[in-house]
Amino acid sequence: MADYDESRLTVVDHPLVQHKLSILRDKNTGTKQFRELVTELAIFEGYEAMRDFPLEDVRVETPLEVTTCKRIAGKKVAIIPILRAGLGMVDGILTLVPSARVGHVGMYRDPETHVPHQYYCKFPPDIENRTCLVVDPMLATGGSLTAAIQFLREAGVKDIRCLTIVSCPEGVKAVLDYDKDVRLYTCSVDRCLNEDAYILPGLGDAGDRIYGTK
Ligand code: URA
Repeated sequence: MADYDESRLTVVDHPLVQHKLSILRDKNTGTKQFRELVTELAIFEGYEAMRDFPLEDVRVETPLEVTTCKRIAGKKVAIIPILRAGLGMVDGILTLVPSARVGHVGMYRDPETHVPHQYYCKFPPDIENRTCLVVDPMLATGGSLTAAIQFLREAGVKDIRCLTIVSCPEGVKAVLDYDKDVRLYTCSVDRCLNEDAYILPGLGDAGDRIYGTK
């Protein structure tokens, strides 16, 4: 039994997601394929994270007759990547919502203490009226994600959904306990963190693997 509010956690475990995630984890997967897979997994996650968007009726003239169809009812979206690995998920979400705005939160982890430090934060001006999809491939200690949630709440955002690809129980608990309304989407909750705050089995450093910096 998990000691966090499981009702706000969605594990996106479609067979295609599991298949792609297994390739992503493989240390022999190169930068190009890694980047493509992160984009594809972001699409699957975005699809789930927007499943409850409200619809409204619209009249549409097909080549044969007039009919009533459904369209998304004015939901405005902002994608908030946590720099730098979160940038790898932006194009996938933009594929689904091309009109979304993109805000950025720059965080780095102190290599000794693992405490996150903010060095950049820029949101679109009407952020408080948007559903914010915060994206970061790895949910480790939860420090960066909780900091991003704090900035968004301070900016007046009501609807925050966090999308990660690989998580661990420590990070999931940290995020869901920190904010009682936030929703979390992930492709896997892995076993644990190691002493360097890397997820096990994980996939290594997502930023380095997306950008080929190691
Ligand atoms: N960030 C990563 O890129 N990988 C981890 O395992 C943990 C944090």
